[in-house]
Formats: sequence, C-alpha cells, structure tokens
Amino acid sequence: MSALNETLIRDVVAEVLGRIGGAAPATATKSTPSAPPPAPNPDCGCSAKKTSASNPALRGKFGVFATAEEACAAAQEAFLQLKEKGIEARRKIEIIVKTMAEKNAEAWGRIEFEETKIGRLDHKIAKLGLIKLVPGVDWLRPDARSGDHGITLEEYTPFGVVGAITPSTHSIPTLSGNIVNIVAAGNAVVFNAHPSAARCAAVAVRAYNEAVYRETGIENIACIIEKPSLDSFNALCKNENTRLLLVTGGPMVVKAAMQTGKRAICAGPGNPPVFVDDTCCPTRAAKAIISGAAFDNNLLCIGEKQVFVLDHVADKLMQRMTENGAVKLTHAQLDSLTKAAFTITPGQGGGCAQAHTNKDFIGKDTSVLAQAAGVNIPAGTQLLFGETDAMHPFVQEEQMMPMIPIVRVKSVEEGIAKSLQSEHNYKHTAIIHSHDVENITAMARALDTTLFVKNGPSPAGLGLGGEGYLSFSIATPTGEGITNPRTFTRVRRCVMVDNLRIY
Ligand code: NAD
Repeated sequence: MSALNETLIRDVVAEVLGRIGGAAPATATKSTPSAPPPAPNPDCGCSAKKTSASNPALRGKFGVFATAEEACAAAQEAFLQLKEKGIEARRKIEIIVKTMAEKNAEAWGRIEFEETKIGRLDHKIAKLGLIKLVPGVDWLRPDARSGDHGITLEEYTPFGVVGAITPSTHSIPTLSGNIVNIVAAGNAVVFNAHPSAARCAAVAVRAYNEAVYRETGIENIACIIEKPSLDSFNALCKNENTRLLLVTGGPMVVKAAMQTGKRAICAGPGNPPVFVDDTCCPTRAAKAIISGAAFDNNLLCIGEKQVFVLDHVADKLMQRMTENGAVKLTHAQLDSLTKAAFTITPGQGGGCAQAHTNKDFIGKDTSVLAQAAGVNIPAGTQLLFGETDAMHPFVQEEQMMPMIPIVRVKSVEEGIAKSLQSEHNYKHTAIIHSHDVENITAMARALDTTLFVKNGPSPAGLGLGGEGYLSFSIATPTGEGITNPRTFTRVRRCVMVDNLRIY
C-alpha cells in the first residue's frame, strides 16, 4: 500500500470515528467536531462578511432585535459558533432551556397569561414544566450501512438559521420546545412571535441567551424580533440566512409561509373530533373528554373540539360528564352563547352562511361563557357542553373555548363520516372511545390524521399520559408530524468504498 493511500485511509478513519462520536480524530480538536466554515473573502462584499463574529452592532442584545435583518445576521453568527463548539454546546443549550423553562414556569406562565389574557394560568405554568419531555441531542443518531462495497453513513446535519413563527395560544412553550429541537440539530433560530404574545416571548429569549452566553460563549442562538409584524414576517422569510421555516399557527400563516418559496414545515390548524361508540367505558370517555377539552380552556390544537356519540349511549355519556364536573347548557342557553361567540355572515351568491369566532371568547374561562349563556355555574367548572346538530358553528369552527358540542349519530358509519367532515381535511388530530377494534380501525383509516388517540384525552397523543414524546409544533399539512430534532436536519451521506467493513 502506498504512503498516500495509508494517509488517506487514516484520515477517513479519523473522520468517520469523529462523526459517530468515537475517538476524536487525531487532527481535530475536541471543540471542532465538524470542519470549520470557509473564511469569507474580505473583499468580496458578500453577506458572510456582514455576519462575521465581530459585528459590534449585534453584541449585548441577547437575542432581542429590532429588525429581522439584525436577528438573522446574529443567528447566522451563532450558528457558526455552535458549529465550532460542537455537540457538547448543543447539549448544554438543551439542558439550559429545559431547566430554565421549568424553573421559571410560574413567572413566565404568569407573564404570558397577563399579556395574552387567554387560557388558564395553572395550565400555562404546567406547559412550561413539560419542556423537559421535548427530545433533544440524543435523538440524532446517524444511520449506517455496511456491505461488500464498504460502509456508508447518513448523518442528520443542520441547515443554519431556521425562521420560526409562534402562536398566541402557547408562546413561550412553543418557543422553548422549538429551541430544544432546532438547536439540538445544530441550527440557530429567529422567532416572529404572535404580536399579542411577543413581550413574554422576548423575556424568555433574553433569559435563555444570557444563560447560554454564560455557559457556552455563544451569544444569539435564539433570536426574536421585538415588535413582530407582517413586514417582519416577510423580511424573516426573505432573508438569505433563513434556510428553513417552521410555522405554528392557523390557516393564514400556513398559506403565507407556503407562498414564500422557502421550504416550510407547517404546524397548522386542527378541529379534532371525538367519536364515542357503545363499547367504550362511558366514565372513562367522559373524564378524558373533559380533561382534554378543558386543558388551557381548549386552546390546544389537539384539544377535543366536538363529540359525535351513538344515540343510545349519548344520555349516559352526558350523565357521566355532568357527574365529573362539566355543566350541560340547555338549547336556549346554548343559543345565547352561540350568538355572542360567533358572528354569522350571510352566504353570498347562494353560498353558505359563514361563522366567525368572536375573539373575546377564545380561551376564556367557563364563567365568561356561562355569563353569555345566561346561566350560573359552580366556581371552577372545567367545561360546558350542550347538544347541537353537526353543522353548528361550535362543531364546524375551531372555536378554542371550554365548551364542547355533543352530536347524536345513529350509526358508527355516520359518526365516522361526520367526524371526517368536521375535521375539514386538516389531517391533524382525531380521538375515539371504543373497545371495538374494527370501529377503531375504520375511523383511523377514514380520518387519516397525524394524531389518532384511542381511549384517552388528546394530550396522550403528545406523550402526556400516553407513550411518545412532546412537541408543541405538530406539522400537519406538510407531513413531518410531531416535530423533533430530526425534522430540522439535512440528511447527508458519506460513503467509504470497499473498506472498513470489518468482517
Ligand atoms: P394565528 O394563525 O392567528 O397566528 C399564528 C402566527 O402566525 C402568529 O405569529 C401570527 O402573527 C402569524 N400570522 C398570522 N397570520 C399571518 C399572515 N397572514 N402572515 C404572516 N404571519 C401570520 O394563530 P393563533 O391564534 O396564534 O394560534 C392558534 C392557531 O394555531 C390554531 O389554528 C391552532 O390550531 C394552531 N396551532 C397549531 C399547532 C400545531 O402544532 N399544529 C400548535 C399550536 C397552534
């Protein structure tokens, strides 16, 4: 074997060992597991020059910037720093975010609640305590192949800067979980938060960056635009450093992101139906529906939004719901609430009438809804419910209120068909309460949703009382599913021909 071949093989072995986390390559230091980026040509005038680590305008902001341009430039610098500092720094950042989210859950839950005025304080706090369940660095394992022609490694590598849009319904929890996923994969991130939940988001971003800087020397790994707007959304999407988008929100932002020309991972809207047949345990079903639909006043995209139940077990289910703390509205009370909670615009040109949800009721307590319904309810009531038909606005709209409509159906087929119609092809989440495996299978096939929960509350689909892992961004229309670090990676293949297969 020539000296040249020996050197080549030694280098490749060292490189491969370094990549799979074995002994560090002899030529690389511990802090540089991947090759450093090429130095920018100082005279070429390209953006790399502008984002060199010496840009003084980006110092001392701890991630909070006035413009998308500054935020993206700072995040690009941070991405390069993270690349230099390797897996160990990613792991430190994951631990920092998880620890701080839990430690600050009470304070941050409160500022988010005070800013947005939607949902429930106890559940805002609880959501932050759950960030520790979001998968991080350990999720990324290379795939290897070994055969007659040598070995091949496929690695999950970063994109660079991810532009992320977060909802008003869970601003700090979404942001925190997104940081864990995105940074675990080696990226940096820039957030455009919902304007009504941006102040609290900036508080968390600043705190995370201060801690990350202290622990790793990386300054702006997660950036945020202080006063987000549609203009800053457009600027973030257009910025050349933004390689990938992650959108968590309703139909408008999903559409807007898909029109940018950038690859977008879209965690879009849902309207999860529940079907209850006559084989399930009605008490268990009632308790599950209450706990899922009442969580954070039904702000969650996965939360139970309407129930279809076989006619001959409907009374029993509703009885069990009442026994477990939910309050049933009469038809007249439900009518009053519907008039207050929705604006109905008459159909145009022979089209159907359109219901628009009144924002004043989204995520509000049952006491607010009960007042509009004209009913007195016990303090602390978790959930209201009432009987409706299948085309009622409470069924058809993603209403995000602690009030669940109950629709009687005559057959399993009708229950599944009406569940499918009410889900509006979002392919997000559906729930069934049944012990009949054929009914379960039929609904799973018909609904074709990203999450399908059987005999439990909807959060069980995110590992909360069911098996699995957590994310607050469930990529539905674009198909990535419950996001995790791998969602934010490029798969790259490294091939060694005819050697290193050791048997
Ligand atoms: P929203 O759509 O009003 O806002 C979400 C984000 O998009 C915000 O940052 C907002 O400023 C931005 N936005 C809205 N319209 C935009 C446009 N035209 N161009 C650019 N940006 C725009 O939603 P919301 O009320 O904050 O959150 C609730 C919605 O989000 C529900 O539809 C819910 O189902 C969905 N959601 C989905 C998931 C998921 O994982 N799939 C998670 C949480 C919330």
